[in-house]
Amino acid sequence: MEKLSAALLGATGIAGQQFLPFLAGHPYFDLKVLSASSRSAGKLYKDAAKWYQDSYMPEEYANMMVISTEDALKNADFDILFCALPSEIAQEFEPMFAEKGVTVFSDAGCFRKEKDVPVMIPEINYQHIKLLSAQRKNRGWKGGIVKNPNCTTVAAAMALGPLRKYGINRVFLSSMQAVSGAGYDGVPSMMITDNVVPYIPGEEEKVEFENLKILGELDETSGEVKMLPAVFSASCHRVHTLYGHIEALFVEFDNEVDIEDVKRSIKEFKSRPQELELPTAPKIPIYLTEDPYRPQTRLDRNAGEPLRCRGMAATVGRVRYDHDEKNRIKLITLAHNSVRGAAGNLVLAAELAKAEGLI
Ligand code: NAP
Repeated sequence: MEKLSAALLGATGIAGQQFLPFLAGHPYFDLKVLSASSRSAGKLYKDAAKWYQDSYMPEEYANMMVISTEDALKNADFDILFCALPSEIAQEFEPMFAEKGVTVFSDAGCFRKEKDVPVMIPEINYQHIKLLSAQRKNRGWKGGIVKNPNCTTVAAAMALGPLRKYGINRVFLSSMQAVSGAGYDGVPSMMITDNVVPYIPGEEEKVEFENLKILGELDETSGEVKMLPAVFSASCHRVHTLYGHIEALFVEFDNEVDIEDVKRSIKEFKSRPQELELPTAPKIPIYLTEDPYRPQTRLDRNAGEPLRCRGMAATVGRVRYDHDEKNRIKLITLAHNSVRGAAGNLVLAAELAKAEGLI
């Protein structure tokens, strides 16, 4: 298979560097451009990036020269790019790359609310990748923009995806989010050590909107997603863990459900990425645990097989009726915020777009 050429913007940052282990030796994509701000441009990657990962920096990138985002745009001779720029910078650059024929897969928050921009969790809303065609038609672009959801959205949407068929009416969510979700310098240690912080600016609105969009249906005639017609209410909290967002969900359905059937739906859930055997698709996307003490952040955040898919699977547990109300359940869901919630999920979205002939 001929590989597509790829660039990475914001390559030196904490989100950007997480793409490198996923892209090293990738069978579909050849990462040939690393870009960051003018502070890093002209330096070797190994000198420009403070490497925060617990795996070594892949050798093939260590001696690559970092270029500025402006230079990457001037010579945009690559097929796709992964973007991990701060949102306000991404907002300026992403449409310019899309216009030049590059398909952008982006971690940045901008454009997620645009009707023709897909916000992808490939197992849950693989059909939405077709929005790329509508977007290209609407905007006259040869390229396009595909978004990753917010990392907190991911754990919830993965648990809710298999339950959509029961008719979701209302969801309450309470999150316990790891500090890495805010970036390396995001949460001061004096604030989070021995502590829980009950407010994350902007987070609840994102989680509520994005879940309803991801769980919504693609209307191919209008070329937009019809939001899931449900009430979604989130309360988001920062806790003293490093990686892995764990969330309590309270779900009300239109009708009564059989709890064993609900568990089976989660346990047996597989989707298009597994069917297509995409390189970054975990064999089992959601693990169901019956152990009442699981999932636990430290023990379960790296779930996912084979080895290159570590952290790509969600784990769901404590699935039970809410008191004796047979149309209401409670559960706990966990996903790795910077793998499934960031780089890994976005690489999987790009694999899906390639397999579906959209790039
Ligand atoms: P970060 O560590 O501060 O990295 C920012 C990156 O953008 C660096 O490569 C930086 O280059 C580059 N950059 C900054 N200003 C720039 C400019 N004016 N022009 C061009 N490049 C510029 O931030 P981060 O935590 O990785 O977050 C980056 C994006 O990813 C944000 O949109 C964030 O919301 C999203 N995100 C982050 C996480 C996470 O786990 N942290 C998870 C999901 C999504 P220099 O090194 O040269 O300054």
